[in-house]
This record gives sequence, C-alpha cells and structure tokens, in this order.
Amino acid sequence: MIIRHDNLIGGQWRPGFSYTANVNPSDLNDVIGEYAQADTGQVHEAIEAAQAASSAWAISGIQVRADALDKIGNEILVRREELGTLLAREEGKTKAEGIGEAVRAGNIFKFFAAECLRMNGETIPSVRPGITVEVTREPVGVVGIITPWNFPIAIPAWKVAPALAYGNCVVLKPAELVPGCAWALAEIISRSGIPAGVFNLVMGSGRIVGDGIVNHPGINAISFTGSQGVGAQIALSCANNLKKVQLEMGGKNPQIILDDADLNIAVELSVQSAFYSTGQRCTASSRLIVTEGIYQRFIEATIARMSKITVGHALTAGTDIGPVSSKSQLDQDLNYVDIAKSEGGRLQTGGERVKLATDGFYMAPALFTDTTTAMRINREEVFGPVASVIRVKDYEEALAIANDTPFGLSAGIATTSLKYASHFKRHSQAGMVMVNLPTAGVDYHVPFGGRKGSSYGPREQGTYAREFFTTVKTAYTLP
Ligand code: NAD
Repeated sequence: MIIRHDNLIGGQWRPGFSYTANVNPSDLNDVIGEYAQADTGQVHEAIEAAQAASSAWAISGIQVRADALDKIGNEILVRREELGTLLAREEGKTKAEGIGEAVRAGNIFKFFAAECLRMNGETIPSVRPGITVEVTREPVGVVGIITPWNFPIAIPAWKVAPALAYGNCVVLKPAELVPGCAWALAEIISRSGIPAGVFNLVMGSGRIVGDGIVNHPGINAISFTGSQGVGAQIALSCANNLKKVQLEMGGKNPQIILDDADLNIAVELSVQSAFYSTGQRCTASSRLIVTEGIYQRFIEATIARMSKITVGHALTAGTDIGPVSSKSQLDQDLNYVDIAKSEGGRLQTGGERVKLATDGFYMAPALFTDTTTAMRINREEVFGPVASVIRVKDYEEALAIANDTPFGLSAGIATTSLKYASHFKRHSQAGMVMVNLPTAGVDYHVPFGGRKGSSYGPREQGTYAREFFTTVKTAYTLP
C-alpha cells in the first residue's frame, strides 16, 4: 500500500491539492510513498501560520528551545539506521552514506540546542558620559528555507536548526525529488514541543511553492541551497523586496596533486571526493590538477582504483556508488561526457550507463584526461560522477588553474610540502581549503560556504550561522 504524506501547516497535517510519487532511483519499480503538493493558497497559509507564531516564539525561553532541539537531535540519532535507509532509497546514496548524513543532521540539532544557551550580547561603554550601550541579537522573523535534493536531511537540518534556535519561525520547502527525509524531519519536529506554526512544511515545485515563498511579503529572510541559476533569481527578488538572503550554490572544485604528494593518499582522496555519493556533492572535486612528475603514476593508479569501485543498488551491501538521482541528472551527466569528448578530452574509463538487475539510473564513473581549463567540462558544474584531469608544469600553474573558475566553494591540495600547503591555504580563492583531505567532507560545527559564484550572503553552520538568522540591536540607556 502506498502511503500519502501531507504538508504541515500551523500544526495540522494538511492534504495537498495533488500528490507525487517518490520513486527510488536504484529501482524505478519501488515507490517510497506519495507526497503532497502545495498550491499557492497553502503556501500563503503556511507563511501566515508562521507569522502568527512569530512574536511568541521570538521571546520564548532559551531552555524551551534548547530542550526541543535536543529532543529532535536525539530522535534523529536513535533512528539513524531507518532515516539513513530512507535517504538512500529516495536519493540514491549508499546506505552507509545515508546513515552518516542522518547522524550529521542529529548532531547539528544537538549543536544548535547548545547554541540556544550561548545567546550572549555585548555591553560597551558609550563615548557620552553616563550612557550604556548594549548590543544584542534578535530573530529575523519568518524564514523561508528552500533546499536541494543531494543532502535530503543534512541541508534542511543545518538551516532549520539555527533558524529555530535563534527564535525564528520556518517555512521549509524541500526539493521535489526527496520529500521523504524532509517529511520525516517535519514529523519529528511536530512532536518536539515546538508550538504550532513555528515550523511548517510545504512540499511541491520550485515554480509554485518555492516562488510563492520567495515573493511573499510575510517572509523576512530566505536561506537557499541549490543551483546558481535559481539562486541568482532568488537574490534579485530578495533585493527588490529588501529581504535578507543567503545562497549556497554550485562548485567546480579543484584538487591539486603535486609531485611530492603521497601517491596513495592523492589517489584515494581524489577518487573519494570526485565519485563517491555519485559525484553529487557541491564540494565534489571535478577538476584534478596534476603536476608533470607524478602525472603518469597518478593516472594509472587512479584508473586502477576506479576499476575496484562497485556501482550498485544503494541498499545493497558492497555498493560503493549508488545511482544518479534522477533521469534528468543522468541525461545531464551523459551529455557532459559527450561534450568533453567533443572538446578533445580523452575518456580513460567509465562515462556510460550501466544496466543492473534493478532498473535504475546507474552510471560508471568517468575520468577524462587531456583536458584544458578553457573546456566546458572544466568550467561548468556537471554534478555527477565525472572528473577531468588537467596536466600542469608546477605548483604556480596549478594554483592559477585552480583559481581560474567562476566558482569558489572548496579546493584541495595533496602535497608533503609545508611551503606549498601554507601558500595554497592563503591563496586559494575558495571558501574551504583542504590539505591532504578530500574537497568533500566537512565538520558540522564550523562555518561552511564559498566565494565567487558558489555562495552569497553570510556563512552557514557553526556559530557563524547566527549572522544570517539574527539581526543586531544596539540599545542606549541613560539610567
Ligand atoms: P535547484 O536550484 O534546481 O533546486 C533547489 C531548490 O530550489 C529546490 O527545492 C527547487 O524546487 C527550488 N526552486 C527551483 N526553482 C525555484 C524558483 N524559481 N523559486 C524558488 N525555488 C525554486 O538545485 P538542485 O538541482 O535541487 O540541487 C543541485 C544544486 O545544488 C547544485 O548546483 C549543487 O552544487 C547545489 N548545492 C550546493 C550546496 C552548497 O552548500 N553550496 C549544497 C548542495 C547542493
């Protein structure tokens, strides 16, 4: 029996005006459930419910908020196996990756539970005698949260948890492809003790639900993660309506491998961050920039390592890489393989659709060599298991090419040289820099975000999240 899942509006589970099937990309015959599609009217109702709950929640006690967030975090952690399995089933990550993501989401709620108790301000002497100046932080109000499909529970968690911790009300719209994890999270939040209307879930399309949230006057701030094209439209709309906005977008992350790198480490971290999670991470390394002295050994070892990767059903033990998440993403990945070939890239391995026992969107990870920084394959985000190698003379050329991109999310270097590692940390034009570590894979308690076309607005996560989710008040008192 296929179960229907409704929207959460003002504390009530409300049927959608229609439902869509959530289909497993590892097995297109497996329907996970049907999920409500909100219409514009329901979007407005959710925003009005959040507005109505806003003033009381803004001044709610910090212990109340801390307890609720801690409860949510604990339940996610206890249910990690079940939630990780749901995630793998709807998004296509392996079960181990899905469980890891669920754990991350649980830890994020627990981190922000503790942050509720650290809402300190400042008292500053005035330049005028007898006056005291206090600087405090207050909630922004009602926050619209719009999330992508590739981290179905972690991204909603890392936006919703700080929003609630700092006293905001939330209207969450998850990606159409992965409503299951967002619905499960909403269900957990609905039993956490948080008052009705403080958190609302509206599922549906970007065009109706996403746009309805962005353009509603009752929304005070938008936190968005997704593609650059949609992000840019949202930024324009927020600028026109003077709303606070935070955007996390795509990447074309470079991984430099220098002659002095440990070959095993260089190969492992490149393969991990280029191809695991099916290359569908905004922090995936899609450009491997390799210096001449190690080039041949690196290519041979990488191809050998890639031959050991098992592409399979996300829930099958032994699978390293699950399917691509959707038909349209698979078409995009295969199209970029054709583009790279037509530009003169040499396909060393993979790049084709794989047929398995279940009908899913499987693809063999693709490695291109003989590519240059001007090629589309090195400039545009593919967002799949496709990486290209650029051969360079030395560190200086590698750094210049690493920075030669419209994006700036994450960047890595594999080297045993302190001199080059230190120089790269300072001169990389990315928001996150990794030395002898994959470009993907970050901690949950420190700032996350990029530069250039990858990010816009204040950083997410860690204590830095409060820059976006609070507004500063300066109060002067003459006793
Ligand atoms: P997307 O931009 O297509 O969609 C993201 C969300 O925006 C979805 O919920 C979608 O329904 C909604 N949306 C679409 N059109 C809208 C509109 N006009 N108004 C309001 N909302 C709208 O992105 P996607 O395909 O879901 O995700 C993949 C992208 O996300 C990649 O570019 C990836 O790099 C990026 N991403 C970035 C980060 C990061 O932190 N930098 C993390 C994960 C994913």
